[in-house]
Amino acid sequence: MSVAKDSFHNDFSHEENIPGSEKDRAIIRAAYRQLLNSVKTTLEPADHKAIRQAFELAAEAHKTQRRKSGDPYILHPIEVANICVQEIGLGPTAIVCALLHDVVEDTDVTLAEVRAQFGTQVSMIVDGLTKLDSLHESESPQAENISKVLRAMVSDVRVVLIKMADRLQNLRTIKSMPPHKQLKIAAETSSIYTPLAHRLGLYKIKTEFQDACLKITHPVEYKDIAEKLSDTKRNRELYIEEFCEPISAWMDSVGIKGKVIGRPKSIYSIWNKIRQKQVAFEDIFDLFAIRIILDVPPEEEKSACWKAYTFVTDHFMPIPERVKDWISLPKSNGYESLHTTVIGPEGRFVEVQIRSERMDDIAERGFAAHWKYKGIKSISKLKHDVFENWLSQVRDSLENSMAGNAVDFLNEIQGNFFTEEVHVFTPSGEMRILPKGATALDFAFSIHSDLGKTCQAVKVNNKLVPISHVLQSGDQVEVIRNKNQKPADGWLKFVITTKARNRIRAALKEEQVKQAEYGKEILQRKLNAFKVTVEDNLEMLVKYFKFPNHLEFLSAVAHEQVDLKELKKFRADGPKLVEVTDKQVRPEVDLTEVFTPVDRKGSSQKLDIIINDQPGRLFQYSMATCCNPMPGDTIFAYTNTSNITKIHRSTCPNAQNLLTAYSHRVMKASWGNTVQTNFVADIIVMGVDTGPGVINALTDRLAMLGLNIRSFSISGEDGFFEGRIGLIVANLDQLNVAMRSLKELEWVSSVARLE
Ligand code: MN
Repeated sequence: MSVAKDSFHNDFSHEENIPGSEKDRAIIRAAYRQLLNSVKTTLEPADHKAIRQAFELAAEAHKTQRRKSGDPYILHPIEVANICVQEIGLGPTAIVCALLHDVVEDTDVTLAEVRAQFGTQVSMIVDGLTKLDSLHESESPQAENISKVLRAMVSDVRVVLIKMADRLQNLRTIKSMPPHKQLKIAAETSSIYTPLAHRLGLYKIKTEFQDACLKITHPVEYKDIAEKLSDTKRNRELYIEEFCEPISAWMDSVGIKGKVIGRPKSIYSIWNKIRQKQVAFEDIFDLFAIRIILDVPPEEEKSACWKAYTFVTDHFMPIPERVKDWISLPKSNGYESLHTTVIGPEGRFVEVQIRSERMDDIAERGFAAHWKYKGIKSISKLKHDVFENWLSQVRDSLENSMAGNAVDFLNEIQGNFFTEEVHVFTPSGEMRILPKGATALDFAFSIHSDLGKTCQAVKVNNKLVPISHVLQSGDQVEVIRNKNQKPADGWLKFVITTKARNRIRAALKEEQVKQAEYGKEILQRKLNAFKVTVEDNLEMLVKYFKFPNHLEFLSAVAHEQVDLKELKKFRADGPKLVEVTDKQVRPEVDLTEVFTPVDRKGSSQKLDIIINDQPGRLFQYSMATCCNPMPGDTIFAYTNTSNITKIHRSTCPNAQNLLTAYSHRVMKASWGNTVQTNFVADIIVMGVDTGPGVINALTDRLAMLGLNIRSFSISGEDGFFEGRIGLIVANLDQLNVAMRSLKELEWVSSVARLE
C-alpha cells in the first residue's frame, strides 16, 4: 500500500485543500489519509485525482455542517467510502461517489456540477443516492426513495452497495440520535436494508444490521445476551479449540491447506432462537459454530469440501437432515457452502460450515467479491449469472409496475426479490426456480400465462392441493387445467410473483372493461328518461357515487352494486343532470352512508373494538374486506388518507406493506367484548369429486353445526373439485370447528381459509 501512496505524492501536491479550524482539519486529514491507505491496489493517477477532487468538493460543501455527534460532517462520507473499500470491496469510482453521496441532497452543489466535474457515471450514481426533495408530494416518501435507489441500481449496482455503506455508517453512529429517530431507522433497516443485504449476499453487513436493530428495539434483551456471551467466552473458546484440533491435524496429514476457525453466533441469531424456541439462553444447544476454510484451486474445491465433510462426520456424529449442500446448488444470491451440524464433546451441537477461500469471500462480501472471481467489471456482460438473473427480474418488474406507484413497487420488491428461492419440478423433471412462498398458481403462471389463467387444480407430489398451496423445494408440480376457468379477484391474494400478479390483473381488467360496457348500457337506459347521455354525465356521476374512476363505477353498475334509484334525486338541465336541492344542502356524511355500494360481506358493525386504548366507535372503523378479521384474530387498525379506519388481520397480505410504508397511520387494536354478530370467512375446500352428492354433503355438514352459508361456488375436473364457501360465523373458534369438521370427510383433501 505504500507504493500507492508514494506514487500520488510524485504527481500531486501533499496538502489537501481542507476548510475549517486547525483541529477539525487535522481530524479530517487523518480520516482522508486513512481512507487512501485502505485502498490496497495501486490507484491510477486519474483515479487518485478524482478521489481528491471529490474529497475537496465534499469537504468544502459540507464545511458548515456537523453530525449530531458534533463531528465535522465530512467524516461521514469519508467513513462511508471507507466501508465501500474495506467491507464491500468496491473501487475508485465508488469512493468518489461515496464521498459525494450527500452533497446534492444536503448542500448547494447541484447534480449538473457533479456531472461537469466527474462525468455522467458518477452523477448517475450520486443522483440515485440523493433523496427526493422533501417538498415533493408523496404518499410514502420512504417508499419513493427506496424505489428510486432500486431503479438506479438496475443501471449500476454500486448505487445500492453505497447505500448499504451509508446505512451501516449511520447505524454505527446512531447513539447520538434521539430515540424515536432510532426506532424509525431500525424499522426501515429491518424491513428493507437487512433483506436487501441478504439478497446481495452481504452476510457480514446483514448480521451487523440485525444486531444494531435489535440493540435499538430490544435493548434489555440485547444487553442480557451480550453479557452472557462475554461471561461464557473463555469456556466457549476452549471448547472450540478442542473441537477444531483433530480437524486441523487431519488437514495437515492429508496436505490440504486452509484454516479452521470458531465463529461467534450473532446476538440477533441467539435472540431469535430464544424467542422462536421459547428456551433460555442456557438451554441453547448450538451456540457453537466453526468454519473450515480450504485453500484449494477452483477445480478441487468441491471434492476437498466433501473430503472435509467426510472427516468431520466420521469423527463426530452428524445430526440427520441437518446437511445443507449449497455447493452443488448455490443460493440465488451466490452463496456457496456446505453446512452440517454434529454432536461434539459433552453432547453439544456444533454447526460446521465447510467452504473454499473463494466461497468464503463471496459469502462475506457478496456482489463485489463475486465479480472479482468472474474477472469481469461490467455486470451487463454476465450471462446466466445469479446476480444478473436477479437484476433482470427486478428490471422486468420495474417495467411492469405501474408508473409512479412506489408503494406497490416496494411491496412487490419485498415479496419477490428479497426472498430466497425454492426449486420445484415439472412432471417431466424440468426444474423451475420460484421465490420462496410462491404458490402452485405462481408455478402455473411461470410455465405459461394461459396455463395460469386456466389453472383449475394442482397436484403436488401426486397429491391434490389448493391452487394457493405454498411450494417447497423439491416439489413436483402438475397443473390441472379447465378451459372454462377464469382468473378471480381472490387469486391476487395468494400469488406472489410479478408475472402471475400482472397477468391476473390484466385478465381482471379485461373482464372489468367488458362489464363496464355492459354497465354503460344499463346506465344509458336509465338516463334515457332524462334525455341525457352517459358521456355528458359520467364524470359527475362517478364523483357523486364516490368511485375512483369510470371503469370501477360502470362495472359496479353492471354488478348492481350502485343504487340507481338515487337518480331520482336529479333533473335534467340541458345535456347535464343536476341534483335537486331540497331545502338544505345535505351533509357529506349522509351521502357516503346512502350511496356506498352494498357491503359485499354484510358484516355487522355492532362490535366492540379497542383502538389505541379507546373505544373503537370513536374512529368509525370498519372491517377490511381484504382479510375479513373476526374475533380471535390478531388485528391492527389503519387510517387511510381519507380518514377512513379499517381493521386488518395482522396476517393480512397488505399488513406488511402498511406497517412498513405507512407506520404513522397504523394504530394498535384489539377485540373488546363482542356482542352477537356475524362475520364472513371465505374458505376453500378441495377434494375428490365423488359425484353430485358433494355439494349436499358439504352443506349438510355445515348445517349440522348450525352455520349459514353466504356464498358457495364449486368447480371440478378430472375427478377433483374445488369449492369456495363464504361461511357466516361468529368468531374464529366457530370457523375452526367448521373447517375441522369438513376435513373429517374422507374425500376432502384440504380445507383452507383464504388469506
Ligand atoms: Mn449519508
